[in-house]
Amino acid sequence: MMQQPIASHFVDGAYLEDTSGTKIDVIYPGTGAKIATVYSATPAVIDAALNSAARAQKTWAALSGTQRGQVLLRAAELIRADNYALSVLETYDTGKPLQETLVADATSGAEALAYFGGLAASITGEYIPLADGDFVYTSREPIGVCAGIGAWNYPTQIACWKAAPALACGNALVFKPSEMTPLCALKIAEIMMEAGAPAGLFNVIQGLGDVGATLASDSRVDKVSLTGSVPTGRKVYSSAAAHMKHVTMELGGKSPILIFDDADIEAAVGGAILGNFYSSGQVCSNGTRVFVQKGIKDAFLARLKERLKGVVMGDPLDEAVNFGPMVSERQAEIVEGYIARGMAGGATLFAGGSRNGFTIAPTVFTDVTDDMVIAKEEIFGPVMAVLDFETEEEGLRRANATEFGLSAAVFTRDLARGHRVAAALEAGTCWINTYNLAPVEAPFGGVKASGVGRENSKEAIHHYTQVKSVYVAAGGVDAPY
Ligand code: NAD
Repeated sequence: MMQQPIASHFVDGAYLEDTSGTKIDVIYPGTGAKIATVYSATPAVIDAALNSAARAQKTWAALSGTQRGQVLLRAAELIRADNYALSVLETYDTGKPLQETLVADATSGAEALAYFGGLAASITGEYIPLADGDFVYTSREPIGVCAGIGAWNYPTQIACWKAAPALACGNALVFKPSEMTPLCALKIAEIMMEAGAPAGLFNVIQGLGDVGATLASDSRVDKVSLTGSVPTGRKVYSSAAAHMKHVTMELGGKSPILIFDDADIEAAVGGAILGNFYSSGQVCSNGTRVFVQKGIKDAFLARLKERLKGVVMGDPLDEAVNFGPMVSERQAEIVEGYIARGMAGGATLFAGGSRNGFTIAPTVFTDVTDDMVIAKEEIFGPVMAVLDFETEEEGLRRANATEFGLSAAVFTRDLARGHRVAAALEAGTCWINTYNLAPVEAPFGGVKASGVGRENSKEAIHHYTQVKSVYVAAGGVDAPY
């Protein structure tokens, strides 16, 4: 049961402990039991991490892209080979069912490392011909030392989604996991070393928000990539601005799913389930505002109720369980509070609403209106708000009436409408007739308050490199005097 790591931090290629930092108890959400203790990084630990990252970055950037790629590809293989143990650890860290973690977390981390490992050798600039034999060439240089700050819902994936492109481009990374889920990233650090990364290239330091804030404002950090809530994003973005640091902000959402009368009902119900209840609703891109066109609403709700009978709650380590607890007691209380506000605000509780330990049953509200709190604020729990609409224009207008813009989906059999609606939705990622698929090949990130920059895909290369232009003159210099 205990999952005590060798030490709290992984710095300069080895575990490092400093028990004078704030104590952080690690709780297994499946039972509420304490499974480990780690300590928040002290200034000495932060210094050691940043200094070793700066050193390692120089050695690493001097390698060829192919050489860097080989290390990432090896790390991907090691993660795949260790998938079971890493998945169990992910379940201990987050409480997500093993049934999910076995296929979603280490797997997705390995895919990111393999993808960017493969890409590393082709990160190049361009040749730009000019008049009279002059030309410009560009190179994509590493940014330097990057800080990654993670949320608690996907600790392995977030560590890898930040490390893979950062390292492929020749940067070093200091990663601070969420204080709720400190365990998984340490294993990724071990694996990076085993794969051949130089000591200090990938450091993990623990801590609460104050450690994240220190990283975001330290002048030795050249880029900050945050996965977290919008309020945290605003703070990190503004302190990064003081030093003109590069940023990637992967923030929250309140994403809409538009289901039209002509939709395939099984696909629409499946999408709404995936987009609300996977990882017990603790997914940034969740489609928590489900707009159902009036003609299909009764059939949609009937089928949703039927399929919710397939929910299996219980010990997340039991592979038959497909729905787990919230990450913490606090998060369970927050979600419970939203359910109470939903009922007090006049919405109809159609399914769920109950709590057992840290687990909140999959909850569906109907008769939800746009102005209700449960339709406006990110809940980050298994609470689906069903709203209805009549016309495409109305559905789109209401779907877009939010400060967020992370994701959105449309379910329809009308091909032209699918593309038209996707084009009009204000979101960084849209799905047509599916939900929440985020393959490493596709850019992922938000518009509006949901973020800046993109993770995954070739796009991420632009966010982990800076371009240098070199003008080469073929003739003499034409000066006025
Ligand atoms: P959070 O914002 O509370 O914390 C995120 C991280 O930021 C943690 O590591 C935390 O310690 C750190 N932090 C807190 N205050 C800080 C500060 N002032 N300066 C620097 N760092 C600070 O978010 P959370 O509750 O851990 O995660 C849930 C949120 O993350 C949700 O809003 C969710 O939508 C979002 N999220 C977004 C994505 C995405 O890719 N867009 C993915 C997962 C989660």
